[in-house]
Amino acid sequence: MTMHGLMMDCPLMISDILVHASKCHGDQEIVTRLPESGQTHRQNYRTTHERTKQLANALIEDLGIEQGDVVSTIAWNSHRHIELYYGISGIGAVVHTVNPRLDPKQLIWMLAHAEAKAVFFDIQFAPLIDGIAQHCPNVKHWILMAEDAHLGAVQTECRSYETLIGGKSSDFTWPVFDERTALGLCYTSGTTGDPKGVLYSHRSSILHALACSASDVIGVGASGVLLPVVPMFHVNAWGIPYAALMNGAKLVMPGPQLDGENLHAMIEEEEVSYVAGVPTVWLGLLNYLEQNNKRIDSIKRVLIGGSALPEALLRAYEDKYGVTMQQGWGMTEMSPLGTVNAALPKHGDLDREEEIKIKLKQGRLVFGVGMRIVDDEGKELPWDGESSGHVQVRGPWIASGYFKGAGAESFTEDGWFMTGDVAYLDSDGFMTITDRSKDVIKSGGEWISSIDLENEAMGHPDVEMAAAVGMPHPKWQERPLLVVQAKAGAPKDAESIRAFLADKVAKWWIPDGIEFIDAMPIGATGKMLKTKLREIYKDYEFPAVDA
Ligand code: AMP
Repeated sequence: MTMHGLMMDCPLMISDILVHASKCHGDQEIVTRLPESGQTHRQNYRTTHERTKQLANALIEDLGIEQGDVVSTIAWNSHRHIELYYGISGIGAVVHTVNPRLDPKQLIWMLAHAEAKAVFFDIQFAPLIDGIAQHCPNVKHWILMAEDAHLGAVQTECRSYETLIGGKSSDFTWPVFDERTALGLCYTSGTTGDPKGVLYSHRSSILHALACSASDVIGVGASGVLLPVVPMFHVNAWGIPYAALMNGAKLVMPGPQLDGENLHAMIEEEEVSYVAGVPTVWLGLLNYLEQNNKRIDSIKRVLIGGSALPEALLRAYEDKYGVTMQQGWGMTEMSPLGTVNAALPKHGDLDREEEIKIKLKQGRLVFGVGMRIVDDEGKELPWDGESSGHVQVRGPWIASGYFKGAGAESFTEDGWFMTGDVAYLDSDGFMTITDRSKDVIKSGGEWISSIDLENEAMGHPDVEMAAAVGMPHPKWQERPLLVVQAKAGAPKDAESIRAFLADKVAKWWIPDGIEFIDAMPIGATGKMLKTKLREIYKDYEFPAVDA
């Protein structure tokens, strides 16, 4: 017979992280470049807790938010966004972080799908809000994340964050409820159809934050200074808003100022030791450092993920600037942590070139993430460093399904999530991604749906068939190349296709390259053969225009 342990069954509540941070790291700071003014704002964790309790009272008393309600944010990384993370989830509601780079049509769809009751936004998104507000009947409250003085920037009827929380009491007791309660919602653009919502729970987020805290993962303690460049609307800024407070690290929040010059200034001023973001950002910073002969000596580690770490970037930062580049792999559906690249003791004797080969792998499996690699028939492949197959994962911070039942085809019958990545594993659990089976393009860390792009392009009167493929790009890692088979006798006019797409997709989705092909390669099932197209255009170079 099973004998149960005699340990307390305390539910894992996200509010406990904030309470801990305020009690044990009360003087530790969050430093923000304010989105509304560019000025530097400092606030410690004790104050953050007090303000978050004021916010909790405001959410309940003034906005009528109840447990299970969805509250959206369209915002940069800031102390207010941290308060919203903890305040909304802490009362049992769901914080829905929205990617402002989406097309307004998609935003309207998403806010309706999420049934958002209130939206908190930064001043940079005021024009966006003015454009969409009238199409979002379910949103009852729009809140500008600033003081009243900035309300003139918005035409939509709204109130300011500081006034909303200003008059409220900071007397609030965080409720305790089922740890499986939803805490956050983040949509991911899939291959086809509408974006799909990933719904995190209190339990999953705390376990993920604990896993992030391990020394070979993020492992930043109370003496660490962490600058998440990865936005809080992109998979919870990789869990940093939770892990930093759990460990009492200082947080440096860049607001909208993500260019090389501003990042460098914040790194210097705040003596940042750890930064995290997608490769495009580190390319921008590198250019700034090189052109201005600057250094970033306080930085010890850079966590880089979202796309593969380019070798040149790795060499430049490590060899010239003495920082350790650490690659991570994950997904929105995985909270996002899956693998992080940290050397093993046996790698200590390797020469530099061998070491670089290892560092270019996506990383070693983090405890808590189960992984298997399977072939096309679903047969499991060995971890032999060469058998490449489809990556499937499972674990306590991995989605078991999508919001409102979407995307069931992404899960196997025996409960694994199919990532759409193709990789091999070696006998030490290091994963190397070799391909992607999902039909998407990832540009500067953000998804472009190749299928949506193709469908829109095929609406052009001269286009018979169109296929969008992601091709390597020096700045954005990948950009879309649109391969077009024109209708018989029709002109092959790339500019006309570009102009046609201009009001149909987000500006940054417009293909950098449009190439015409006489006959589109078609597979046995009638599908356009993208593998063949990638082969044909393998040496393709985009015209030298910035995306
Ligand atoms: P997202 O859900 O937007 O975080 O995107 C997850 C996807 O980004 C993964 O399934 C991969 O295709 C890709 N990705 C993330 N990290 C890496 C990496 N280090 N190397 C290559 N691809 C990556």
